[in-house]
Amino acid sequence: MTFVLDDALGGQHGHAPRNIVSKPRSERSRMRFSFEFFPPKHRAQDEQLSSAIAELSPLQPLFVSVTYGAGGSTRERTLSLVTALLWSGLRCAAHLTCVGTPRYAVNEIARRYWADGVRHIVALRGDPVEGIGSRYAPHPDGYAYANDLVSALKRIADFEISVAGYPERHPESLSFDDELDNLKRKVDAGASRVITQFCFQNDVFEDYVERARAAGISVPIVPGILPIGSFEQVAKFASRTRVSIPNWLRARFADIVDPETVRAVATETMLEQVLDLRERGFRDIHFYTMNRSEPTLAVCRALLEAPALANAVSGVGR
Ligand code: FAD
Repeated sequence: MTFVLDDALGGQHGHAPRNIVSKPRSERSRMRFSFEFFPPKHRAQDEQLSSAIAELSPLQPLFVSVTYGAGGSTRERTLSLVTALLWSGLRCAAHLTCVGTPRYAVNEIARRYWADGVRHIVALRGDPVEGIGSRYAPHPDGYAYANDLVSALKRIADFEISVAGYPERHPESLSFDDELDNLKRKVDAGASRVITQFCFQNDVFEDYVERARAAGISVPIVPGILPIGSFEQVAKFASRTRVSIPNWLRARFADIVDPETVRAVATETMLEQVLDLRERGFRDIHFYTMNRSEPTLAVCRALLEAPALANAVSGVGR
């Protein structure tokens, strides 16, 4: 892999990188961020990721995480990026899926993670091998669902484990009770954090958290925030994952064609949503960065450097 993290972080292995936000932690807002990256496929993506990491690391994320291609398609690239991030001094979680893989192979990867210093895993089932929307069938010798994977990981080593949650229900869940039963199974198996699918409606997210609490789930539930790079792409992905696009959001992007304007509106939209989440008491935020620093960087900086910033536009994100 050509990705050079040492360069990205200014060659400061194991130390806080240069250009760090200068205020001490105690003077900053108590908000904590985590950033999700995916392993790049080719050189152009390497450079984009390197610069995203270089720009976002100074925000001192709680952790960064690296996705894993369902069925193991990114196994080596995920591990190599995770190892590089750990060496740079960042706390890093490796994603791991069990779909389409026999148990012994999943166990082997988990043992390799542990041997390489990985202590935090985002444990997932993964989408069906034929793609989102097709019928899911567990591997005959595999872990069938994420809760089985969590139990197996806990047997292998004392990993910190995060799992996925779905404020609008996973497309395969039969009901909301079914959704929460599954989430509880994952937490009971040993997960200590839930990171959610993106959701543009904070009322829906808050309602989900309240239902989870009522179901006896007490671990932190962290909202996943997806930046809007292209509204059409986000709308397509949202429809495949059954995430709703509220009318106000659709209307906001309806007539914008200029890419600069899209970026400006996307940043403002994301900031408003996160400010509203903060007002509701949510302090931990997980950003699906898509390997780009913007608009995540702008939003995090605004929150850290202007803690008194309030959400001026009522209704957005609700
Ligand atoms: P599960 O928790 O196993 O649930 C999947 C569905 O199965 C649910 O509808 C559940 O109700 C149902 N179910 C559970 N147990 C049973 C049972 N015993 N019988 C019948 N039904 C059951 N995908 C990747 O490929 N790589 C990644 O790196 C990745 N990272 C992600 C990170 C986050 C934060 C999120 C939210 C998603 C991520 N995904 C990733 C996508 C995820 O793999 C898919 O959403 C997948 O379809 C479900 O995974 P899960 O772990 O939520 O599955």
